Amino acid sequence: MIVMKFGGTSVGTGERIANVARIAAQVAQEVGSPPVVVVSAMSGVTDSLRRAARTAAAGDRETFSIVRDELEQRHRQAIQDCVSDGELARSLQAEVHSLLDWLETLCQSIYTLGELTPRGMDAVSGLGERLSARITAAAMKSQGLKAQTVEATEIIVTDDNFGRASPLLEETTRKTKARLLPLVEGGIIPVVTGFIGATVDGVPTTLGRGSSDYSATILGRCLPADEVWIWTDVDGVMTADPRIVPEARTLPQISYAEVAELSFFGAKVLHPRTIQPVAEEGIPIRVRNSFNPEHPGTLISNDLADSPLIKGITAIRDLSIVTVEGRGMLGVPGVAGRVFTAVARSGTSILMITQSSSEQNICFVVRTVDTPSVVQEVEREFELELLRGDIDRVHSQDEVAIIAVVGAGMLGRPGIASRVFGALADREINIISIAQGSSEYNLSLVVAQRDVDEGVRAIHKQFGLDKI
Ligand code: ADP
Ligand code: ASP
Ligand code: MG
Repeated sequence: MIVMKFGGTSVGTGERIANVARIAAQVAQEVGSPPVVVVSAMSGVTDSLRRAARTAAAGDRETFSIVRDELEQRHRQAIQDCVSDGELARSLQAEVHSLLDWLETLCQSIYTLGELTPRGMDAVSGLGERLSARITAAAMKSQGLKAQTVEATEIIVTDDNFGRASPLLEETTRKTKARLLPLVEGGIIPVVTGFIGATVDGVPTTLGRGSSDYSATILGRCLPADEVWIWTDVDGVMTADPRIVPEARTLPQISYAEVAELSFFGAKVLHPRTIQPVAEEGIPIRVRNSFNPEHPGTLISNDLADSPLIKGITAIRDLSIVTVEGRGMLGVPGVAGRVFTAVARSGTSILMITQSSSEQNICFVVRTVDTPSVVQEVEREFELELLRGDIDRVHSQDEVAIIAVVGAGMLGRPGIASRVFGALADREINIISIAQGSSEYNLSLVVAQRDVDEGVRAIHKQFGLDKI
């Protein structure tokens, strides 16, 4: 059994959705049983929905109606372009209309209340997938396939961490099997909404921005599937973001651990949580291009066979480096623990940590949006030490970025770091801070944001990744 997820650009127009239906038909024929299909919202739709909710909360009563009209227009057109059966198209248009009525009513109440809770935002955000899944299933039926829309709220059970909910695996497994297996056995393609789930009480949640990939691997784990295929708009996982490094190459193969590092450090091609549900079970993932289905794509598995030294270079932008410094920290146990507990209290996650051996400072990197609350919490924690002068200051530098160099081949191989530093030095790029994970899969560097693109290109070239 195959679970296949199609991203926003792969369902971006009616024509693209018809293409998805063709791919599903072909896979069903080759594999001998229908795939489970997971879809994202049409590209840009989730952003529009969130804008509608936010502007409504801010007291703007026009924008959400405009968004509604634009969405209706776009989905109407898509239906015209991929659903040839007139009767089916008419009932689908009516369904889209009533879902958008619901959106408008919801935004109207957000406007009246002047408040948008994370729970309300999740209810609004998930509408795009509910629309695209219905259209995709109808497009499949128009091509003579058997298909049925399945709302993930029926099968993916999550906690109530709205905006970034986590699945409860036991309940999800039970519901997924009960709902999807009979369809597949009956030759019907389930078309499941990505991105969303619901709490035990049935309240809709989302799994985080860009998380339809994660929805697919959750279902892959629960069924279980033999493989999970992520269909996107590039040929696979590449050695770098092709928008920054035009010479980036597609990797034929990469390990779970490596791709986890790449996606955590900014490779948008997979949501950072995608790997986790399937890696434990050894279920392979393939990343493939819906615009170029002949290409075999990238296979992600446990296999590390003949790995090149470096697999990829990624970057995360809009970060700050926060430094806690002072001579009074020297040899005092517990300072680091208190720093990180304070950061945790502010609800922020840390992307990278370094401490100089003199123990006179601790640096860590967080997203700039979180910096003010982090600095405030740490200053509060060390109020006394700051007064006494044991800690000189807590300060932050904005406009920095992390470059991550990832590859299992780095393991135990000397000289990698010096080649990375050399490549940056040649371009006169200053390295603000360095960290290497104990896995040795990842070397992370902090540089000024203005240097990040050139830095990524320089390292990419240094390791000959344009020629693999
Ligand atoms: P989808 O809508 O299918 O989920 P995304 O836009 O989320 O697609 O992710 C695919 C995009 O990720 C590609 O178009 C590419 O620009 C970007 N990208 C960034 N880094 C990488 C990488 N290392 N390999 C492949 N694509 C990458
Ligand atoms: N549509 C959702 C988003 O834009 C999920 C996804 O595309 O994976 O965040
Ligand atoms: Mg994506």
